[in-house]
Amino acid sequence: MEFNIAIDGPAGAGKSTIAKIVAEKMNMIYIDTGAMYRAITFLSIDQGKTTIEDIVDLTKQAKIEIHGKNIFVNNQDVTHSIRNLEVTNNVSKIAQIPEIRILMTRLQREMAKNKGVVMDGRDIGTHVLPDAEYKFYLTAKIIERANRRYEELIKGGLNVTLEQIKKDIIQRDRQDKQRAFSPLTVAEDAVIIDTTKKTILEVVQEVLSYLKKRGEGVVL
Ligand code: C5P
Repeated sequence: MEFNIAIDGPAGAGKSTIAKIVAEKMNMIYIDTGAMYRAITFLSIDQGKTTIEDIVDLTKQAKIEIHGKNIFVNNQDVTHSIRNLEVTNNVSKIAQIPEIRILMTRLQREMAKNKGVVMDGRDIGTHVLPDAEYKFYLTAKIIERANRRYEELIKGGLNVTLEQIKKDIIQRDRQDKQRAFSPLTVAEDAVIIDTTKKTILEVVQEVLSYLKKRGEGVVL
């Protein structure tokens, strides 16, 4: 595969679901960069680190690996633990620390250097892979995004309210968009897809049709 695909957007816009399916259909490797920031957040909570200096040190020494659908930090499988509410509500604070972003960006570029990667996040098309051949920005109305997260968490057995989830998402959006270093913005050359009233399949088809129109070998 001679190209990379960057997929950015706010929480709950459908990035990871879409990126995973597109990667599978295109026979590419899926990389969830949010999971990397979540892994560092999990590790700092787990080890009781609270100062920026300590969290940066811990990040420098951390070994982060993605194997298929699983993410490991220092050989520990944290795939499920990184989805808990404590991590979710603290990750944007940790993702604001420039030194941590620099370390994660370096790792992400390394993972994408041989092409064939579908990478999702907040700053992939703008900062991590500005030369990515294809860039998509997925978005959706806040109430739709909150509803999706709510359904997901309820299914997972968590006792949350829609109102609380909506508040958390608004807060996370604000932190992600307003941070000084590589904030969430739309890349100039990104294709914007509003997923509010679309099914997963429709969004996947939209991405694949775009690739096909550009001459890539896609089976729709
Ligand atoms: O995608 P997900 O919601 O799992 O990402 C968790 C958090 O990680 C985001 O809210 C954001 O603060 C941070 N993040 C980031 N840059 C990325 C991916 C995620 O700052 N490329």
